[in-house]
This record gives sequence, structure tokens and C-alpha cells, in this order.
Amino acid sequence: VALTKIPTIRELYKAGVLKAVDAAKHAPNPALLDRVSLYQGDITRLEVDSIVNAANRSLLGGGGVDGAIHAAAGPSLLEECRTLNGCDTGDAKITKGYDLPSLHVIHTVGPIYSSSNVEEKAQQLASCYQTSLQLAVKHSLKHIAFPSISTGIYGYPVKDATHIALDVVRKFLDTEDGTKLERTIFVVWSDADKAVYESLIPYYFPPE
Ligand code: ADP
Repeated sequence: VALTKIPTIRELYKAGVLKAVDAAKHAPNPALLDRVSLYQGDITRLEVDSIVNAANRSLLGGGGVDGAIHAAAGPSLLEECRTLNGCDTGDAKITKGYDLPSLHVIHTVGPIYSSSNVEEKAQQLASCYQTSLQLAVKHSLKHIAFPSISTGIYGYPVKDATHIALDVVRKFLDTEDGTKLERTIFVVWSDADKAVYESLIPYYFPPE
């Protein structure tokens, strides 16, 4: 899937998929409407500079989106991952994309959710987004596509996780480093997750 086929949130407002809300959490920043996308589908098909993998601490593959990325990238990805000595929760490491249409994979390790220490889990999840964005900029990558980290096997409530994802990305895109990212793509798999992103994006990326 080429970047030109991935709708920006400006296009989604125009199509009526996204609708303005009264109590947006951030001021409008019209430039960001062309630099953020919501896409439903398989992240492994995206022809972009980088996709983010919701990995585990071993970085040696797993289920969900991790399994899909390793399957599509081929065995060379696992070989490179073996050299990385794992990754801490909330941190991120970068590899090449191998057989993927994406040039790079940014592997981040989300928290396994538990309702006992919600604040720590929230900080770890925010750190996944933050360190992935920083890594992309450090490597001069112009696009980054995120799956909904931790909300599958790791059990993070989707609404809470989506607030964190949108908040960290919005704040990062407002910084000087953030201007170097031409496109940030939120990738959802299920209809239910898509509906959550559609309802929350207008609070963080209000229209003009
Ligand atoms: P975690 O272990 O961090 O919870 P999962 O892979 O179980 O990671 O789930 C993270 C999210 O990725 C879920 O919303 C899941 O539906 C989604 N997902 C699974 N496969 C894909 C894929 N091929 N492309 C995009 N998203 C995917």
C-alpha cells in the first residue's frame, strides 16, 4: 500500500469519517492534518520508511502483529533481532525491513497490562510511542506507522491506550523534531479499534 493510498486525517474530516468535537484537548494545528493518518488493515503491507512492531522483551518474535511482521519480513529479521540482546519495556530498537515493503522496523515493547499499577503501565506505554518517534527522527525516517501497542495479547484497554498514543504523538509533532516526520500513521486492525480512534482523534487533532 503506497503512502498516497493512505488517507490523511484532513481527508477523513472532509469525508465526514472524523467529526469536530466541542472540547478538544489541543488547539488546532492545520499542518498536522496532512501529516497524520488513520488506516485500517495489515501494517505489514505498508510502503513506508518504518513500521512499529509491538514486540516482547526477547525481540525474538511472538504472536499478533509481531508474528505477522516476522512472517512477512522473512528469517533475516530474526537474525538481526538476535544481535540486539532484547529490549526493555517502554524502550525501542530499530532493524531493517528485509522482505517487508517498509524500509525499517522499530521494535518496541509495550507493558503487559494489569489494573494494579495503572500509572506505571501508562508511563511505559507512553514511552513506547515517544522512544519510537525519537528513533525514527534519529534515523532520518520520514514516516512511522504504529499498531495499537499492548492492546492485543498484552490486554491494555483500547480506549486508555488510544488516549496515550494520540497524546504522545500530538505533543511530539508539535516539537521541532516532530516537524521532521512527514507522516505518522495509526494502524488499526479491528472495526472496534477503528471506531475508538475515529472518536478520539478529533480531541487531539481538531480540524481548522
Ligand atoms: P501486544 O502484545 O502489544 O498486545 P498484539 O500483536 O497482540 O500486541 O496486538 C496489538 C494490536 O495489533 C492489536 O490491536 C491487534 O489487533 C493488532 N494487529 C494484529 N495483527 C496486525 C497486523 N497484521 N497489522 C496491524 N495490526 C495488527
